[in-house]
Order: sequence, then C-alpha cells, then structure tokens
Amino acid sequence: MAAFDSLWTEILDVGRDGDSGGYRRFAWSTADATLREWFVGAATTRGMDVEEDRNGNLWAWWLPPGWTGDPRGAFVTGSHLDSVPDGGAFDGPLGVVSAFVAVDIVRERGIVPRVPVAVTAFSDEEGARFGVACVGSRLATGSLDPDAARRLTDIDGTTLAEAMTRAGRDPQHIGVDPGLAERVGVFVELHVEQGRALDLVDKPIAVASTIWPHGRWRFTFGGEANHAGTTRLVDRHDPMLAFATTVHAARSAARDHEAVATFGKILTAPNGTNAIPSEVRAWLDARAADEAALTAMVDLIRARAAEAAAGDGITLEVTAESVTPIVEFPEAPRTRLRRALAHLGDIPVLPTQAGHDAGILASTVPTAMLFVRNPTGISHSPEEFATLEDCRTGAAVLADVMVDWTTTDHGEST
Ligand SMILES: [Zn+2]
Repeated sequence: MAAFDSLWTEILDVGRDGDSGGYRRFAWSTADATLREWFVGAATTRGMDVEEDRNGNLWAWWLPPGWTGDPRGAFVTGSHLDSVPDGGAFDGPLGVVSAFVAVDIVRERGIVPRVPVAVTAFSDEEGARFGVACVGSRLATGSLDPDAARRLTDIDGTTLAEAMTRAGRDPQHIGVDPGLAERVGVFVELHVEQGRALDLVDKPIAVASTIWPHGRWRFTFGGEANHAGTTRLVDRHDPMLAFATTVHAARSAARDHEAVATFGKILTAPNGTNAIPSEVRAWLDARAADEAALTAMVDLIRARAAEAAAGDGITLEVTAESVTPIVEFPEAPRTRLRRALAHLGDIPVLPTQAGHDAGILASTVPTAMLFVRNPTGISHSPEEFATLEDCRTGAAVLADVMVDWTTTDHGEST
C-alpha cells in the first residue's frame, strides 16, 4: 500500500533539526504553519472541506452524499502534528496521516459512509511551547479557561495570545466549543505506542483501556545569588541543593507508589557557571495508575522538597500547572473497535501512561484509541520508531473501524 508511504514522506522533513534528527514542531511556529498547510493540501486533494475552529484545531470533512446542514454524529479520527523538543516522527502525525489514508482505503473499497467522517489535527497537544498539554482539545471541551490560556507564556516571554496573533489567528475567540458533543459521534485516535507492551506480545495493534491520571507541577526554589568562589558553604542559600534532593525524592516516591515521576525541565537563574543560583524552577511530570496514588506521591515529593528547602533557608512554591484525572475509555466504542477488528484475532487491550487529546475529549464525546507497535518503546525522542509495515496495518485497521462505525445502524446508539 503505497498510499501511506507517500503521504508519510511528505512531512518527514518539516521541523526536523539537522543536528539531533529530532522534530521541533511547536505550536504556532513556522513548522506548525507548514504542517497546517500540508493538512489543508491533503484534505483538499481528497475533496474534503477544511475548517480550522477558533481554538486552532483542524477538521477535514467527508460528508455523505446529499448531507445538508452541519455535520452531526460524525466518525472523527486524527491526532496532532506538533512535537516535544527533539521528538520523534510518529507521536501525533502517525494518527493524522493514517486517518487520511483510512479515508482513501474506504473510498477505494467503494464504501459510502452514512454519517459524516472527519480527519482532525488538534492544536498544541504536547504543550512543548506554553507548558500546558492538549491546549486545543482542552479549550474545545472547556477544561482550560480561555483567559488562562491566552496568558500562557513561552520561554521567550511570548504569550499564547501573541503567538496566535502573529500566526494570523484571533485569540479573543478561543474557548469552549458548544457544538462538539453533537458534531462528534465518536473520536478514534490512532497513536504510536509509547511503551513496549505490543512488542512483548508480538502484536501490531492494541486498543486502549485507560489513560493514567497525570499532571505537571512547577517547583520554584528561591535562594540567594552569590559568588561561587568567595561565599563560604555555611553562608549559602543555594536552591540547587533542595532541587537535587527533590529529584531523588521523586524517584523514590515513584518507586513506592508503582508510578512514574520525572523532572525533565529546569531553568536556573542567573545560570552562570561561577554563580550560586538565585532561583531554580523545575517541572515535575507525575503519573500513576489511580488518582489516590498520584496525589499521595505528589504530596510526598512536595513535603520532601519543603523539608529540604527549609533546611537550606530557601523558599519553595509549588504550582499545579495541569492535572488530568484518570480516563477510562468507554466500554461501548471499545467493544465495537474490537468487534470490527475480530478478523485480526485477539487484540490486546492496554492502559497508557501518556496523555492524549482522546483523553481530554472523553469528557464530552465517546472516544477510543488504537496503538501501533513501537519495537523499542522509545518515544519523545528521535529514536521513536514504528515499521512501515505496522503503520500500513494501522491505517488499514483504522479503515476497518471507520467502515464499521459509519455503515452500521448502531453507530449513534452505542
Ligand atoms: Zn501524541
């Protein structure tokens, strides 16, 4: 099936860093604009009408013949096009490319859907630039306040509102999409797996069961800048020490709760080799199998950080930037997916520790997810990988699901 390969190749160079080989496709950047143009082109080539909603999410529509009025009860599939810093090629774009290819496959089979079909690309899923993940889907579902969103700031001090304005969008219009529940009958997001579960059972495709509850917390340790050579150790108020203790505390708290906790981003001021820092700002990413475990773990990390800060005479402020509750994908769409894919044998059903737009949209519309095998399990890295064969299988499977959902009567009742 050459269709997947050629569409996939079209975006392989967009936003790719020549040195690292990783992708830097941040929200409202030049790379983001190029990918949006590509999306419009892919949709237009297929005769699909494209709309960008006021939150920057892209929708390409395939309406049944004779359909009048606004789309309702649609089968919607897609993912996101943005990336983490030096991310891989598959996280996000695989779901968007597969969605277009699934449309091609369904059409090649001569099947005409009875309900509208949409391919989507949700805006700013990774939150790499403004710190909050899934901005497009959170705004649409009302789980992110538009004022708070407009004030989000990137590392250069540019607000989301300014970035959208520079990209030719009007940030005053962002906010909840009241027509979402009626428009979307189901949202199915195909995504590269971000672990090794499928490789371990030697299967190409899985259906998602849950998304672990997760969140991001900003820890600000405030100390006193001073000379790295002349300041006696006993006279120092060095916030780096409490931060270092907190990193270790996070690791042991995660182990104790059978969870994960990561400090992957840190900003230090004044950031000089020969200066004791005045401030360390660090972001904790924490995820656990249930909300009680997540809360207990983060409380423990926070307590250890406070203890270490007090011991060194420095200040500590902890701010929850985003906390996403557990998502249990509803049984009905999941059962239908498995039924539509019964010809493939037993399809594994897996929980995921990664956040997704499908998890955010689940608060408002029925959602489901499909995972495509990632042989090494590596993700959010240039090493992220899936074989072309598995990617083609993923698109074909998505087409099977699309056919099942859009041609059988129980589409809207389940
Ligand atoms: Zn993703």
